Amino acid sequence: MKKSANKFKTSNKETSYVHLGSLLVVSGPSGSGKTTLCRRATEAGLCQYSISCTTRDPRPGEEDGRDYHFLSMPEFERRVAQGEFLEHALVHGNRYGTLKADIVNMLCKGINVVMDIDVQGADQVRSCDNETIKQAYADLFIHVPLKELEARLCNRETDSEEIIRQRLNNAAGEMARLTSYEFLLVSADRETDYTRFSALLTTLSLRTKLIDSKTL
Ligand code: 5GP
Repeated sequence: MKKSANKFKTSNKETSYVHLGSLLVVSGPSGSGKTTLCRRATEAGLCQYSISCTTRDPRPGEEDGRDYHFLSMPEFERRVAQGEFLEHALVHGNRYGTLKADIVNMLCKGINVVMDIDVQGADQVRSCDNETIKQAYADLFIHVPLKELEARLCNRETDSEEIIRQRLNNAAGEMARLTSYEFLLVSADRETDYTRFSALLTTLSLRTKLIDSKTL
């Protein structure tokens, strides 16, 4: 492995350690603002946004490789069969997944990573047996009351009425899972949410997450 800023020794002994980046898994119902928070923290240089793969169609303004890797169903299935995904799930009728190699590479370089994924994907990452991911892992659930959520989804005008209904129906199930998460952010307003979110990222990056460089 190349010598880098996050590689160091804790004593004069031979063992050298790599200080891993943090992996923050962020879940919450559609409309909770999790993507906006993750993107803003990425722009501020606090972390790197994990770009997922999906089989859904791009929304207006979305770009391949920036918002998602937009894959055909056969291509998505090929990658599942190759074992390339750290996690993958069917969400709102479309398939979504995170490429394992992308995440591990960033963590080993000391980069903090945020993953904006649903509750099924979070379960898979939480129980994964990869040592780097286990060391780096933390999770956050963003909660929004259902009435407020409905107002937000209608206001953003990106989805049809049918899709909004489907997302609201799923929201109750997702919210029932919030006790599985270590951190909980009850959404208030945009600025308050971001202040809390960025404080969490900063705190997580200060955890001692050392891994023996020989194991990488
Ligand atoms: P959207 O279609 O609105 O971008 O995302 C719909 C849902 O899919 C959101 O709850 C989002 O967090 C989730 N999602 C996005 N990427 C992934 C992924 O890679 N894995 C999983 N499990 N869920 C994802």
